[in-house]
Amino acid sequence: MKTINIGICGLGTVGAGVVNVMQRNASALTGRSGCHFQLKHIGARRDNDNCDVSQYQVSRDIFAVVNDPDIDIVVELIGGYEPALELVLRAIENGKHVVTANKALIAVHGNEIFAAAETKGVNVFFEAAVAGGIPIIKALREGLAANSIQWLAGIINGTGNYILTEMRDKGREFDDVLRDAQALGYAEADPTFDVEGIDAAHKLVILASLAFGIPLNFDACVTEGISGIAPQDVVFAGELGYRIKHLGIARKTDQGVELRVHPTLIPQRRLIANVDGVMNAVLVNGDAVGATLYYGAGAGAEPTASAVVADIVDAARRIASPGGAAVPHLGFNAESLQALPIVDINAIEAAYYLRITAEDKPGVLSHITQILSESGISIEAVLQKEPAQHGEASVAGASVQVPIVLITDITTESRFKAAVKGIEALDSIQDKVNFIRVESLG
Ligand code: NAP
Repeated sequence: MKTINIGICGLGTVGAGVVNVMQRNASALTGRSGCHFQLKHIGARRDNDNCDVSQYQVSRDIFAVVNDPDIDIVVELIGGYEPALELVLRAIENGKHVVTANKALIAVHGNEIFAAAETKGVNVFFEAAVAGGIPIIKALREGLAANSIQWLAGIINGTGNYILTEMRDKGREFDDVLRDAQALGYAEADPTFDVEGIDAAHKLVILASLAFGIPLNFDACVTEGISGIAPQDVVFAGELGYRIKHLGIARKTDQGVELRVHPTLIPQRRLIANVDGVMNAVLVNGDAVGATLYYGAGAGAEPTASAVVADIVDAARRIASPGGAAVPHLGFNAESLQALPIVDINAIEAAYYLRITAEDKPGVLSHITQILSESGISIEAVLQKEPAQHGEASVAGASVQVPIVLITDITTESRFKAAVKGIEALDSIQDKVNFIRVESLG
């Protein structure tokens, strides 16, 4: 039986999870791969009490692992762009297969990394980079290979989903929930990547490339966060039969590919609308299979290790049968990848939720509906609140403000934004109009 030597770089949350899963499930891994796995060399700046690496060679310099001639597979678990990029390129140059959980690295530098790997005849595996333990990359690359994928939509950041779930269930403010999420370890001290949608955008561009056979294109992804969502939006969405989720959406249209991360209203009755807390889910629509939904833990030591170790098994099979055909990195042969245009956000078509804070006086709603109608935008639903219902107190001399909530029919974003400008110009509207895109996902 072939022995495969594994080198791990980075012994943090996921690194410790990988060590523990490999130790615990060693015999199943051998049964599945026909190989014996040897954790040979670990690169870690410090020890991690969550795993026992006393029987392995440990170097404080991670480059000692990639330069170790005995190592067959390098597992990159340090995260970030540098020195992860240098480390991965060095491992490839040294003829080693690479397994990584690093979505930022793959989304931004994946084209360069895959080209280097193809030149060297090695593979880079990255199942853990999207939706943690959910095997969505394998599903898109292999299980759905028969399909022309039409669109996909995912809840692919657990922190954001936890915050929106708490806001809905407990009526709490965004900032308040974020502070708690940080204390619980669900959110980083700097939460920008999670709440502003950058982490989800990293994952979405990887999914879109696998779905549509396009090169990775992180810079073109539209990224909007959830920090502007108010508790009342969550309540009004519920009253209208919707939930607000922070979605990554990729859709193939006649104009090209839409690539966008933003808060989205989705009908409550959809399964994905009921994916709560830190859980992740990806909905994929293929022409042959129809809609398929993948659900599970998007993060955490062992769920992520589940994906990393599965990649190690795949890499071992490649090493054990070197003549076998490799699955292309993005599911399409490199020469078949097509740089389709990424659709400008103003050209997308969606329905819209609007929350307009208006003076409580007769005729305001009809002015708003007139502007929408003159723009060719139909209204699907309206909620108009009385001041008392909304808890507004009338202060002597000040006008009473009430929220008016509307959901439009499908229109183009440019047409919708022009109508919003018209509404904001009305005398009875002082604040900016809040809007959230609505997707039926049907
Ligand atoms: P983590 O807990 O911060 O661990 C990263 C480890 O890498 C730390 O031990 C860190 O050491 C080490 N490291 C960083 N730079 C290094 C360097 N130059 N030399 C040596 N060691 C270095 O991160 P993680 O949560 O395990 O995440 C690892 C990767 O998995 C990231 O790409 C992340 O995006 C991805 N991922 C994580 C999860 C999850 O649930 N955590 C889920 C999916 C994907 P120090 O402690 O000394 O800084």
